[in-house]
Amino acid sequence: MTRWLVRGGLVATCDDQHTTFEGDVAVEDGALVALGPGAADALTPPYRVLDARGCAVLPGFVQGHIHLVQTLFRGMAEGVPLLEWLRRYIWPLEAAHDEASLRASAELGLCELVRSGTTTLLDMGTTHGHDAVFEACLASGARVFGGKAMMDAGRGVPKGLRETTAESLRESARLADAWQGREGRIGYAYCPRFILSCSEKLLRAVAEAAPARGALVHTHAAEHASERAAVRAIYGASDVEVLARFGLKGPHVVLAHGVQLTPGEMTRAAKAGTRVVHCPNSNLKLGSGVASVRELGERGVHVGLGADGAPCNNNLDAFHEMRSAGLVAGIRSGPGSLDARAVLHLATLGGARALGLASKIGSLEPGKRADLVVVALDDVHAAPALDPLVAVVFACQSRDVRHVMADGRLLVRDGEPLDFDAPRIAARAREEARRVGLRAGVL
Ligand SMILES: [Zn+2]
Repeated sequence: MTRWLVRGGLVATCDDQHTTFEGDVAVEDGALVALGPGAADALTPPYRVLDARGCAVLPGFVQGHIHLVQTLFRGMAEGVPLLEWLRRYIWPLEAAHDEASLRASAELGLCELVRSGTTTLLDMGTTHGHDAVFEACLASGARVFGGKAMMDAGRGVPKGLRETTAESLRESARLADAWQGREGRIGYAYCPRFILSCSEKLLRAVAEAAPARGALVHTHAAEHASERAAVRAIYGASDVEVLARFGLKGPHVVLAHGVQLTPGEMTRAAKAGTRVVHCPNSNLKLGSGVASVRELGERGVHVGLGADGAPCNNNLDAFHEMRSAGLVAGIRSGPGSLDARAVLHLATLGGARALGLASKIGSLEPGKRADLVVVALDDVHAAPALDPLVAVVFACQSRDVRHVMADGRLLVRDGEPLDFDAPRIAARAREEARRVGLRAGVL
């Protein structure tokens, strides 16, 4: 049994009261057992010590919308609108993935995420080969929810991604059976990509299958006006209305983006318990607009934060996402509408609530799992850090991440990932990115 004492940090618990204090955090058997000045008394020696002096100690960041399989495509798809971006670049690239490129892409994304303090993520894969992604996730030490993308319809979907409805459901069920609950850190999410690439039959079947397996549903919705218009032309209603009509609503349904949600749709999402994940950098890069995070919160929708994929962001860093969330909220809802504490909530407890995990993670409280990040506050770009939480959200960077722990296992120590060979992963990514880019005809 491994015991840890995280000693002498400024502990920002990120609970609903935003409790902060100077002191220690005691970890035993993967759980937080005591917090505060006398936390060491809760541990029977021997225990290991993690130095957090001069640092903020926070819950590990939660990212509610990631595409690990797209990390290799970073920088390959620039400057085109969403639907063209998908049809010209992302879908052909995903179709060209093989097992080696999927594994390289997932490892690259996981290494970047873990090293910058993300300990939980909700991922969306591609249509094939998802066991390789889950294997990388299990090895990473992170807490990962996700599943294969489902695509049985739609214009411009390449042959390599197009599935029959039955195949898509069968493979999703197989993956869920094989991976759900592994090591207490892996969970399955049915991932119908978005309405335009899924049949009504598939979406209705997902609405039945996911709750029956205790799985999440993870899809894109209300992302861009063009996608909304295309859905309306087919169904005569908005994408979120159509999803709800097919049964895809409720606390297990996580909608990425929600930029275009109307006030009425927000109210109905709140009533149903449907979750939304805010992806500010992706939305800015693809010209989608800015989601009304403050309004969503005021109506009672649980909202998380996500970097989306590397090609629509170029980065998976939670610090970039937090900073952008705070800044763009000023444009959408007025200056100060999302202050540092509100932004930090999105990246921690808010994200955990969005994924239905708030009883286990998202804040530093006794009994929760030991997912935490230790962030240095003493570098010149963060000093003097008189309000440490403002410093974390608006001044700190991923290079300030000193230690990362997930489920009580130390993943990063003194800024160095312990289970990832980062130079080897980056070298393999360069190799595999070239191969997959050539196969797809994109390079
Ligand atoms: Zn996405």
